[in-house]
Amino acid sequence: MSETVKNARAVDRVLRAMDTSDGAGVSLRRSIGTPQLDMLDPFLMLDSLSTDNPDEYIAGFPEHPHRGFETVTYMVEGAMRHKDSMGNEGVLRSGGGQWMTAGSGIVHSETPEQENGLLQGFQLWINLPAKDKMIDPRYQNMEPDELPEIAPAEGAQLRLLAGSMHGATGPINGISTDPVFVDAKLDAGAEVTVPLPEGHTAVVYVFVGDAVVGGKDVPTHHLAILKDGDGVTLKGGADGGRMLVIAARPIHEQVVRYGPFVMSSKQELMQAFDDYQRGTFVRKAAS
Ligand code: MN
Repeated sequence: MSETVKNARAVDRVLRAMDTSDGAGVSLRRSIGTPQLDMLDPFLMLDSLSTDNPDEYIAGFPEHPHRGFETVTYMVEGAMRHKDSMGNEGVLRSGGGQWMTAGSGIVHSETPEQENGLLQGFQLWINLPAKDKMIDPRYQNMEPDELPEIAPAEGAQLRLLAGSMHGATGPINGISTDPVFVDAKLDAGAEVTVPLPEGHTAVVYVFVGDAVVGGKDVPTHHLAILKDGDGVTLKGGADGGRMLVIAARPIHEQVVRYGPFVMSSKQELMQAFDDYQRGTFVRKAAS
């Protein structure tokens, strides 16, 4: 079974993720939100956490705020404990995750927890349009067994967080930028087509092995930025490959950001700092 794609996307460029650290000394690889790629509208940041050394992540991300955008956390291996200032607490388990629409504001901490010492996870930041920046915060939690797993071709396995394809639909809904978020695992030489809305910004991040993306070789921990089109073909490299395919509608608005505040004017940014200092930052509990 294959989706009908008439105008397959080619690769615009391939970038190697940059080694960096954030939070309380968590080692990670950042591919969006770096000096070489400040943002890729509407994506603000893409981090990959990937290590078998607990010292590189165990201190986690102590209490910090977010306003004006969304954070998507997807855990491939290992868990992430999440606790917000309104008392919500939970653990994102291996194969699960959380789509957090920070909107008007959330203050939380995130702490990776080891499972057999392995940690492989992602955090993606997606901007919100100006009109939605101050909406009420919302959590969409994804338990591992809630994500549809499909095998549209021999040796190709897709897990869907967001978007519809090959007769399946990911659980994430009601997001401004109409996202697609797929975890694709391909055996060596296995080929699959992932349909993507035309006009959406789209990337493929390879995190295990390597892959041929839109006809171009993409090694481990590299990001392929795609040209426009209605889908992308993926093929597993010599030892197979595993990758995230992420797409969302660009917003085309001014972005004024500083750390965890992503607003659309300097005044809104000042307001966020002011609210945080005064303790009036969190306006409504997340649902
Ligand atoms: Mn956070």
